[in-house]
Amino acid sequence: MTDRSKSADQLKEYSRDKGNPDALTTGHGAPVDNKTDTLTVGERGQVVLQDVMFLDEMAHFDRERIPERVVHAKGAGAFGYFEVTHDITKYCKAKVFERVGKRSPIAVRFSTVGGESGSADTVRDPRGFAVKLYTEEGNWDLVGNNTPIFFIRDPLMFPSFIHTQKRNPVTHLKDPDMFWDFISLRPETTHQVSFLFSDRGIPDGYCHMNGYGSHTFKMVNKNDEGVYVKFHYKTDQGIKNLSVDRAGFLAGANPDYGLKDLYDAIANGNYPTWTLYIQVMSFDEAEKFRWNPFDLTKVWPQAEYPLIPVGKFVLNRNPKNYFAEVEQLAFSPAHMVPGIEPSPDKMLQGRLFSYDDTHRHRLGPNYTQIPVNCPFATKARNYQRDGPMTIDGNQGGAPNYFPNSFSGPVDNRKFALSKTFVASADIKRYNSANEDNFSQVGTFYRKVLTEEEKIRLCKNIAGHLKDAQEFIQKRAVRNFSQADAEYGRRIEQLLAEYKKAKAAGTPQAQL
Ligand code: NDP
Repeated sequence: MTDRSKSADQLKEYSRDKGNPDALTTGHGAPVDNKTDTLTVGERGQVVLQDVMFLDEMAHFDRERIPERVVHAKGAGAFGYFEVTHDITKYCKAKVFERVGKRSPIAVRFSTVGGESGSADTVRDPRGFAVKLYTEEGNWDLVGNNTPIFFIRDPLMFPSFIHTQKRNPVTHLKDPDMFWDFISLRPETTHQVSFLFSDRGIPDGYCHMNGYGSHTFKMVNKNDEGVYVKFHYKTDQGIKNLSVDRAGFLAGANPDYGLKDLYDAIANGNYPTWTLYIQVMSFDEAEKFRWNPFDLTKVWPQAEYPLIPVGKFVLNRNPKNYFAEVEQLAFSPAHMVPGIEPSPDKMLQGRLFSYDDTHRHRLGPNYTQIPVNCPFATKARNYQRDGPMTIDGNQGGAPNYFPNSFSGPVDNRKFALSKTFVASADIKRYNSANEDNFSQVGTFYRKVLTEEEKIRLCKNIAGHLKDAQEFIQKRAVRNFSQADAEYGRRIEQLLAEYKKAKAAGTPQAQL
């Protein structure tokens, strides 16, 4: 008997399965005679330049790190399948949905957002929940989060927003002034900030949280009829969150809590699953909807746009190697398949550029040739050639220009975007700062949260906001008050108590 977890026993199990070790070689495959002693002039050194085995070893070691992701740097990945349980072919022609019972392989990466690659898993932060579906029409990436909304609605502000969540350029510390200054100056953040400081802001690992595609997408059926959709993937394990105290303890005692929880769940055969739903809105309804249906800071009310079941995500395999299959796993909202199209959502449009751009920087222009990213359920056939790390045979003798008369791959008009794609308006920089930033937040506070959840939400906010300057605190309180008067008042009162405690010199622990 042993009380060691499956993750702790990884090496033991490898060794048991492997049996006798292989012969050690260099990178170019030559046998190595001695892996502990450098080649030296005499017993005490110097090391000679012709110790090429040593040089090869060090030179490779010096290059082990690739740039970490600018956001979502800390993460955990797993593999499994998507199974269709309900027919949605009247909405979508994508082959991945073509029949009930159909399974497609998937890769999933969960992550925190703001911290570095070594940061704790139990911080208050949104969680990334990205799914790659390997379909026979190419890879479809649903690059979502554990919340259905986001802080901002215009991608031009994304780099600034992220800077405020990261480190102060002088102190290299997280900075409450930076965080709350931006948040309070942009009231559209109030909705997501309210989710972030609610109990769901610190999920208990990755298996007990929902995922959302968040953006509005377009689905197109085989008759070229389109609808707008939102994706929800709800945990079948049930929602579970960590208390502030427990999360704080784990950040020190077990900073890789989420990674380990996921690994051990899968290794023990407790495969986590999520049920995939869509909300559907017709183009006519989108015209008349009381909010901008493409505004990423808002949801579609479920009473009006009910969740329609579609299928199941099942995770049943851990990565065989973390770097190969998770650090190099690269998602992009631009990876769509016929039947799935973007909506005008400005944030989505910005992300269509940004993700592939960052992968080309982190992993190189041929990152889709890396096994975990390659569309293995089909074959990439195009006119892209060469570049660093071309490892797939570079498409052999096929012509590298188009059009050609020599059997190069041909395009097919049947895969054009849906016919209903119409766009005509004045081109300018539209100010979206004041597009009803508060009514859904008010609904969330009044109708979704219990009294205990409201109290914890206000405490969590005040406990963080108290460290920002007073003029910023006041501006933030004004925003929360506009969502709900009581919401703002409670935070204001807690801030006043913190101020009193500080003046009296009493400890600043959470009130
Ligand atoms: P519903 O009552 O139909 O939906 C409420 C939603 O709130 C449920 O999906 C529930 O998710 C979710 N929820 C419960 N507690 C929390 C929490 N602490 N943090 C975040 N979400 C939570 O009402 P509506 O659809 O009309 O939405 C009312 C408000 O609920 C919205 O204004 C929005 O703020 C919030 N909300 C709405 C969602 C949507 O897609 N419509 C999704 C999430 C939040 P679950 O069922 O998984 O428990």
